[in-house]
Order: sequence, then C-alpha cells, then structure tokens
Amino acid sequence: MVDNEMMPGGDITVNSDIIVIDDSKVILTALKDILGGIYNVRAAQSAKEAYDLMQEKIPDLILLDLEMPEINGIAFFESIKTNPEWRNIPVIFLTSIDDRKKEETALGLGAAEYILKPIVAEILLKRVHFHLELAIYRRSLEKLVSSRTEDLLKTQEELQRAVNTAKAALRDKTTFLANMSNEIRTPMNNIMGISEAALEGDISPEMRGYFTGINDSTRVLLRVINDILDLSKIEAGKMEMENVSFSTESVIRNCQMMVSNQIEDKGLKLDIHIDNSLKEKQLLGDPVRLYQSILNLLSNAIKFTEKGTISFSVKQIGSGNEFAPLRFDIKDTGIGIPEEQLESIFEPFVQVGKEHSKVDAGTGLGLPITKSIVELMGGTLTVESTLGEGSTFSIEIKLPITKEDSLFDDVFGEALSENSDQPVFNGEVLVCEDNLMNQQVIREHLKRVGLESVIAENGLEGLRIVIDRMKKEKKPFDLILMDTQMPVMDGFEATARINALGTGTPIVAMVANVMVKDLEDYIRNGFLDCIGKPFQTWDLWRCLLSFLMPVKSSGITSAESTEQLQDDIDDTGPDNKKRILIVDDEKSNIIALAHFLRDEFSVFVIRDSREAAEMAANHMPNIILLDILMPGMDGYEVMTALKKNKKTKNIPVIFISGLTSPEAMMKGLSHGASDYITKPFEPSVVKTKIKRLLLKHELTN
Ligand code: ADP
Repeated sequence: MVDNEMMPGGDITVNSDIIVIDDSKVILTALKDILGGIYNVRAAQSAKEAYDLMQEKIPDLILLDLEMPEINGIAFFESIKTNPEWRNIPVIFLTSIDDRKKEETALGLGAAEYILKPIVAEILLKRVHFHLELAIYRRSLEKLVSSRTEDLLKTQEELQRAVNTAKAALRDKTTFLANMSNEIRTPMNNIMGISEAALEGDISPEMRGYFTGINDSTRVLLRVINDILDLSKIEAGKMEMENVSFSTESVIRNCQMMVSNQIEDKGLKLDIHIDNSLKEKQLLGDPVRLYQSILNLLSNAIKFTEKGTISFSVKQIGSGNEFAPLRFDIKDTGIGIPEEQLESIFEPFVQVGKEHSKVDAGTGLGLPITKSIVELMGGTLTVESTLGEGSTFSIEIKLPITKEDSLFDDVFGEALSENSDQPVFNGEVLVCEDNLMNQQVIREHLKRVGLESVIAENGLEGLRIVIDRMKKEKKPFDLILMDTQMPVMDGFEATARINALGTGTPIVAMVANVMVKDLEDYIRNGFLDCIGKPFQTWDLWRCLLSFLMPVKSSGITSAESTEQLQDDIDDTGPDNKKRILIVDDEKSNIIALAHFLRDEFSVFVIRDSREAAEMAANHMPNIILLDILMPGMDGYEVMTALKKNKKTKNIPVIFISGLTSPEAMMKGLSHGASDYITKPFEPSVVKTKIKRLLLKHELTN
C-alpha cells in the first residue's frame, strides 16, 4: 500500500495501487487503459487470482465486478471484509445490472461506489480519485488520532502525577498549618493570659487601653489561624462532620448569646423568629459546624450594619416525618454588596465595599468557609443584597429528624455561660507543661478560681510528683492538666503511667485545635477530657466544673455533705429515668461519673461507704456503681451488706476500681458484682455496661 501523506498541492493519489477484478478480459483491458496512466493497476479475472494479488500486496482500492461466474462480487466483498488488514480497502462495484436492491445491498455492506457499465472514463477516474484521496485522508486521520490519543494518555499520566504531587503537597500543607498553628497558639496563650491578668489588676486607664488592644488583636489573630486551618482542612477534604442529635433552638440561642454584646454595643436590634414546629424537634447533624456557620453570618451582618435591625429567622420549608428541610435567613439593614460582587465574596480572601464601611478588616475567609461547611452538610448558602439597603444570607439544609436526646444543649449551653458568676473551687491541680510562660498563665487562671497548682516541667516530672505524693500518702491531686507535647516524656505516656498508678485523678489534655472527633482519641488514650489552647476562661470553667465540685458558684452551693453533693449532681429530670447510685469517697470520681451519666440517668451519690447500704435500701437504685478502696468500709464489705438485705440483694452492682489485676477483678466478681470496670474508665464503656446490665436485669426479673 502506498503510504501517501497529506501534502499541500500535487496529486496525492498518483502511483496508488489498484486491483481490478472482472471475468471479462475486454473490460479488464479497458480499465487498465483508463487508469494505468496514473495508477499502478493489477488485474484479476477470478476471485482466486484477486486473493493472490492481494496477498502479494494490499491495494489502495479495488474495482470489482458484481457478477462473476465462480463467485459473485457481493460474496467476495463480504469475505474481504472479514480480514482486518483488508477491511478498510475502498471497493467500487462495477456492474451492468441496474438493480436498486443490489445497489442498496452493496452500499449497505460498505461498498464505496456502485457504478453502472458502460464505463465512462472521466467519471470513473473522478470516482477512483475521490475514494483514493478519501482513503489517504482517513489513514492519516487515524494516525493523527492515534498519536493524539497517545499524547492524551501521556498528558493524563502527567496530570495524574501532578494531582498526586499536589495532594501530597496539600497534605503536607495541612500538617504544616496544624503544627504552625500549634506553635503560634502557645505564645498567644501567654499573651492573652498575661493581658487578661493585667486587665484584672489595678492599672491606669492608658495601660488598660493597651492591654485591651493586645487582647482584641490576639483574638483576631486566633480567628485568622482558625480560619486558615479550617480552610486548609476543607481543601484537603479533611473536614469531617459530626452526626449527633441537637435542637435547632439551642443552636440559635447559643448564637444569640454569643452576639448579644456586639448587638448591644452597636445599638442594633436583633429579631429572632423560630418556627414553632421546630422548637420541639431533635435533628441529626453537626450542631457545632451549624453554629459556626450561623455565627459567621450573624457576625458579618452586625459588622456591616451601622443602624437598624438584624432579623434572624428559621423556618421549616417543607413537610416530612423523616427529614426537616430548614431555611435560616439572616437579614441586615447594612451597607449591602454591589451586585457584580455577589459571587466573588464566596471566594477566599475577597473583601468588598471597604470604601463604604468603617469596619475593621476581617480575613475574607468567613464566607468561603461557611459556604463549604454548609455544602458539606448537604445544604446551600445564597445571598441577596441591595447596595445601601442591606443583605440577606440564607442557608437551606435538610436534616434527619431523630428521637434521640440532644447531646448538644448540655455541653454547649454550659460552655457558653460566660456571664455567670465565676466559680470558686478548693483543691490542687498538677499542671504538666514545659513552656515557662504557659505555666505562669495557667497558674494564674487556676489561682483566679481558687485552685492551687503544682507545676511539672514534663511528663516524667509529673509522674514523679504523683508517685512521691502516693508514697507520702498525701491526698491525690484533684485534677491533672497535661500538655501533650513535652520533652523527656510526652503527655500521652505520662497519662498512661499515671493512670496505671490508680490514683483516680482525672487527667485533662491541653491541646491546640480541639475537634469533637479528637476528644474520642484523647479519651482512648486515658484522658477524661481535652481543652483547647489558649483556653478561654469559660472553657476552663466548663472543664473544671466537669471534674471538681465548686465551693462557690452561682446556683451551686458548697458540697461538703453528701446531701448537698447529691443535690448538685442529681438531675431533676423525668421520673422514668433509671436511678444510679454511686458509692465513692473521691469527689472527682463522682463528678466525672455523674457528668456523663446524668443526661440519661438519675444519679445519687454517697461518699461515706458506711451509709451506702442503707441509702440503697431507701432509694432502691436500678444499679449501683461501687468503689473498692474506701475508708470506713471497703467495697467488698458494702457488697456483703447489700446482699444481706432482702430489699437490696438483687440490685446489680458494678465495681469501679483502680485495682486492675485479674485477682482483684475475680475477687470483685466472686463477691457478687455483676461487672467490673477499671479506672480510668471510658465513659462510653461505662454507659454501655450499665445499659447492658439494666437490660439483662429487666429480662431476668
Ligand atoms: P470578612 O468578613 O472576614 O472580610 P467574609 O468572607 O466573611 O470575610 O466576607 C467577605 C466579604 O463579603 C466581606 O469583606 C464583605 O465585603 C462582604 N460581606 C459579607 N457579609 C456582608 C454583609 N452582611 N453585608 C455587607 N457585606 C458583607
């Protein structure tokens, strides 16, 4: 086959190779005469001769007689179509039969032409020329396509490599940012702590101005860091959404509380409307991220509005028993956004209309983050705005309805009670922290709420201090605040070792970027809670209140007696809650247990073990959690007393103890306990064990 390339100018078909097949010698000669001057023509009088010629060399075109004695043209044509090497040779039928049907069949099978004899030389030449040219173009097109495909595959491979490199870079960036933010937070913790401490002292108005400025700037810086970290998490696909039950109302009230000062400071009005149908509903989703999104929009509305009203409404925009489609509208009467910029404000670092506003520059990251979060929750964020009149930002989202009790209200509601009176505690906290400035700041924070602190430079020193205390039989620490990254021995190892000593002291991790998800990890590593650095005052209070009994706090009184302690802890919730009696002499243990049990159970406590059996008989709890090592009467003795009494002998008892040896556990179970939990316990394990036991007890009694 002649491999003609597409060349500009000249006849590209010259010297093409043609086989002419006809049983008539006359016709063959005539064809040779017509075509031979331009092309290389080979003649075959039968199908067999034609096959031989084709095997010698693949022709560029075939002229084929339709009717031949030994094999007809159609059958021959079909046979060459079965050979992949021959199938693309253009075939022109020559025939003296003017039969429409045959013509249709031939063309239908892929013939290039169907030409009626007698042959007109010029027409035949034109047709042959056309099909040769077509074949050449097709071949070069195929070549082009295959080389393009190759190029494309190469590009695709290169792209894939680039994507992999970019992904790795993004991962590195996220890790880098997480580490960086940790590094930045540490000194910021110090700056904030020092300026807060200074602001509480007796300082001149001028100094007060400076320190307030420092404090405000640090908070802004903290926001920038959080925003950048959030955005890089989103970009790296690492932003994970929680799926817990919560009520919309609680999210909204928390937002309201958060912005109330800003609203008041600017002399604005905040109108909140919540659809009645939503007030009772529990939804499944990520309340913290929803809160973050709404708060962002509300803060912007306040920031860009000088006078008037911010209206915040939540409506259910459709019905359904399984899902609640919601719409949150945050409408302001502020500066508005130019129409041509309504799209770009959702892009990172875009800030518009600064010339119209007197507000401080933000990061330009709030909206892109909010939009991404809302989209990760399966919702949409849209905006409508009129320059000079105001803007409305709307979130539409569809969330599953659940019957599960909300976890969010409790945890969050408490966390945000910033305006409540400062609690005062009585106790001693071990602080394991290597950074000198941080040590001072934490000590200062703790002193303000009445707590003494002992500082350890690293995990090992912390461990030594705890052991030393045990040797001297001094009272264990009430709480340990543990930095996780420290030289010599890090917080994880120190926590594992301290927990193994069985002092029962709750250990709280101090970390940067606490995510709800991370908490599980810390708990798995033996911490009972974690607190973000730099900690906000209310965050520290929330944490301390989980583990320590305040001696003074608004609404909470001294807890020296069992009754008072019980009053403080006891949930006044519905009577159908199962009752749990905790018998433990350690206040911190009681608080830690009660903290996570009280949302599901009614909790009673007794610290004097000598009164435990009597209290059980009076209150008839559904389950008893019993410590073993207690002054007065130990857990085994309490157990014996319970078993002796007809009323209490069937109440299931779980030993909760720092004694972790198999012998101790066997001894506990042989005394009649239904289960044994070692300290430090994982709240989820305790809950599961309690529920399983309650169910078993119900089924067997
Ligand atoms: P930041 O507020 O930190 O600058 P955002 O991403 O939250 O960043 O907002 C981007 C920009 O969108 C703002 O700088 C502002 O120009 C505009 N914008 C956002 N909300 C409003 C609003 N309620 N009214 C007017 N402009 C707004």
